[in-house]
Amino acid sequence: MHTRNDCVALDARDALAPLRAHFDLPEGVIYLDGNSLGARPKSALTRAEDVIVREWGTGLIRSWNSAGWFELPKRLGDRLAPLIGAHDGEVVVTDTTSINIFKALAAAVRIQAQNPSRSERRVLVTERSNFPTDVYMAQGLAGWLGRGYALRLVDSTADLRAAIDADTAVVMLTHVNYRTGYQHDMAALSAHAHAQGALIMWDLAHSAGAVPVDLHAHGADFAVGCTYKYLNGGPGAPAFIWVPKRHQAEFEQPLSGWWGHSEPFAMLPTFVPAQGIGRALCGTQPMLSLALVECGLDVFAHTSMEALRIKSLALSDLFIDLVEAHCGDQQLGLVTPRAHARRGSHVSFTHPHGYAVMKALIDRGVIGDYREPAIMRFGLTPLYTRFVDVWDAVDILKQTLCEQAYEIAAVRDAVT
Ligand SMILES: *Cc1c(COP(=O)(O)O)cnc(C)c1O
Repeated sequence: MHTRNDCVALDARDALAPLRAHFDLPEGVIYLDGNSLGARPKSALTRAEDVIVREWGTGLIRSWNSAGWFELPKRLGDRLAPLIGAHDGEVVVTDTTSINIFKALAAAVRIQAQNPSRSERRVLVTERSNFPTDVYMAQGLAGWLGRGYALRLVDSTADLRAAIDADTAVVMLTHVNYRTGYQHDMAALSAHAHAQGALIMWDLAHSAGAVPVDLHAHGADFAVGCTYKYLNGGPGAPAFIWVPKRHQAEFEQPLSGWWGHSEPFAMLPTFVPAQGIGRALCGTQPMLSLALVECGLDVFAHTSMEALRIKSLALSDLFIDLVEAHCGDQQLGLVTPRAHARRGSHVSFTHPHGYAVMKALIDRGVIGDYREPAIMRFGLTPLYTRFVDVWDAVDILKQTLCEQAYEIAAVRDAVT
């Protein structure tokens, strides 16, 4: 079993260790929540100042052209594309994940409805355990469409394949589950969906920047995801949407705002969708927030998703081993798969007082988070998490549990 010194030695020979210097992390904190809000790239501060003082203050309205504001959703999309196996001109960074889910799902439904051999399909399939906003957006769309459109919520991964059938119009899955860290087999499920005549959309919220993703090779039809989690774009940073070239001409989404128009400044009274990925845009974007997404993406240019994956798995293996060795007598239950191929980049344990324990850990400087029911999540982000951080975090977890140093009746904060 690893000692603390072993972990120090692992850090000393870790080729990715220098990447931590790109981030500003507070002293005395072990940050294991990059799966929910990525840490701040140091460069974000100077970039924000530049956007505020020079681009906005001095450039004023001219900056839409001179500072490249108008093109920024596409330019950042091209920079993000290699991390998810997408090509240039297929990704835009824009809006929120929830809104992009709506756009992609609505466009996919429309493509199916216009195909004579598939137009009778009315079922959208997802998992009941999917992130709530994904389920809610699909419910909202199905209800709004009416005409028999319905959402089929599948209760277990084992039942998923059978639930994708000849009635299925669109399958919408989250690649890495936000609670359990379970990673779907994207290639197999995409192939199955296609064999059944369905289209498949993948939510990469917990995948982009966390695990290698190859959307083209794995046969995805559409994808969306966050930039404020593993991509370190900043709180509330705009999300992304991927529409591969093969679907772009038929991709028509209902949020047909002027940024998605083929000639936005022709100010025409009729909507004509832009050629290409531009049609996935809607309206004016928050430039300050959008600009900072690039600071997060810049860090990824120093490494590869393959190298990050190797370290991520080493961190999560170490975390699981240490928790089981040091806290094995506690009421912890591992919910994250042990199989590497099925694991994302966070590890979750249940505990009957999970919320209280997590609150106590945060008070002691170990920041993870809590998700109902009874799940403590620990994000292992290889860009800035050290092996020794994992050791220290488990040590503090052990002390907290052994001393029962948590307030069982802890009052819930608005954000857990
Ligand atoms: C984090 C997350 C979201 C967040 O959606 P927002 O619109 O940014 O609030 C959506 N889906 C999944 C799967 C997530 O993990």
